[in-house]
Amino acid sequence: MEIEKRAIEILKEGYMCDNCLGRTCAGLLTGYTNRQRGKIIRQFLALSIDSGEKIEVDNSNFYGIRFRNIKIKPERPKECMVCKNFFIEKIDMIAEKIAKKLEEIEFETFLIGTVIPDSILKKEEEIWNKTGIEFTETIKSEINRELGKRVEKITKKKFEQKDPDVTVITDLNTGKIKTEIRSLYIFGKYKKLVRGIPQTKWVCHRCKGVGCSYCKGIGKLYLTSVQEIVEKPLLKAAKSKSSSFHGHGREDIDARCLDYRPFVIEIVKPIKRKIDLKKIEKEINKSKKVKVKGLKFTTKDTINKLKFAKIDKTYLATVDFEKTIEKKKLKELRNLTKEPILQKTPLRVLHRRADKFRKRSVKKISWKILAGKKLQLKITAETGLYIKELITGDEGRTKPSVAEVLGNKVKKISLDVIKIHTKR
Ligand SMILES: [Zn+2]
Ligand SMILES: [Zn+2]
Repeated sequence: MEIEKRAIEILKEGYMCDNCLGRTCAGLLTGYTNRQRGKIIRQFLALSIDSGEKIEVDNSNFYGIRFRNIKIKPERPKECMVCKNFFIEKIDMIAEKIAKKLEEIEFETFLIGTVIPDSILKKEEEIWNKTGIEFTETIKSEINRELGKRVEKITKKKFEQKDPDVTVITDLNTGKIKTEIRSLYIFGKYKKLVRGIPQTKWVCHRCKGVGCSYCKGIGKLYLTSVQEIVEKPLLKAAKSKSSSFHGHGREDIDARCLDYRPFVIEIVKPIKRKIDLKKIEKEINKSKKVKVKGLKFTTKDTINKLKFAKIDKTYLATVDFEKTIEKKKLKELRNLTKEPILQKTPLRVLHRRADKFRKRSVKKISWKILAGKKLQLKITAETGLYIKELITGDEGRTKPSVAEVLGNKVKKISLDVIKIHTKR
């Protein structure tokens, strides 16, 4: 449909503001705002009318235009039939409210989202049905963009579509403004120098962290964890309340990790983003239990890369057996490197993981007798091999195993990760 006919079709129904009128031609000409496009169309119609052309539209659309030849005195319009005067009366106020809300947060980039009232969306659709959608833009997209421009001006920060530090959602029904703050992701490597602490915070499953008799009121099953030691200074600096911790694999609670293991810690809803990681590193390293190095900011996708990275690990295990070790059987341990180890999900984790089958290789194994029933094993294995079960056999669920080869039952294992074979 011709531009002029389209405009007449729309404007005969009532008053429409420049933005909404211009938006019907948003796809035409560049370097113009919709408000400017709307003005052009309106003025062109007014010129035509003043020249004597018979155009029947709601006259309030020409309020403020002085005709020379035709006797029309346009009345003051009530409100735009689409946006209800959002662009005329409300947009600046809302932009200021958003900027005010953002003062609480440290950020460099932001994105604007809005919830548009149904009545506006319905009217928008009515117009589309009448005039087609060939050159049009949605009101939502214009509102977001125009709010963005204004907020940029007030805050001096950057409007950005991709990975903004903060997304502001304004509900135009209620005027409520919500912010979604992008997490901070920090990469690093840790050592765990003591036994008896888990990698991540272990929330009590009975009370979900509230505190009950089972967890002695602390809401978790261990007093601390690698995560809690690492997160403490970070949460404080970022004014955040929670983190989530993603290690490249994890050692058992009773195992130490004496080489640096890569991890990513996500700091949720950070109020501050400019954090001195060198200082944080020093702070964490005051701990006797956990040491970290190489803290740096990273992106979310590093978590997946970590998860799927194949990194061999070397373990040192001190194993107590029930019977005296038969020395001549020890060489047979080499056979463990010759074919993959078949493991069903270990009994000790079966309550929280699916019962599956996995195949992993032992790359190297060496040993040293420490006493008649005590053996030290040094084992290098592929990512994901359950080492304790490789040693004990896990009641036949891991095959073959050290216990099976030696024909001896395992009483106790103490385990350390001594090397994580990352590329350096
Ligand atoms: Zn409007
Ligand atoms: Zn509890």
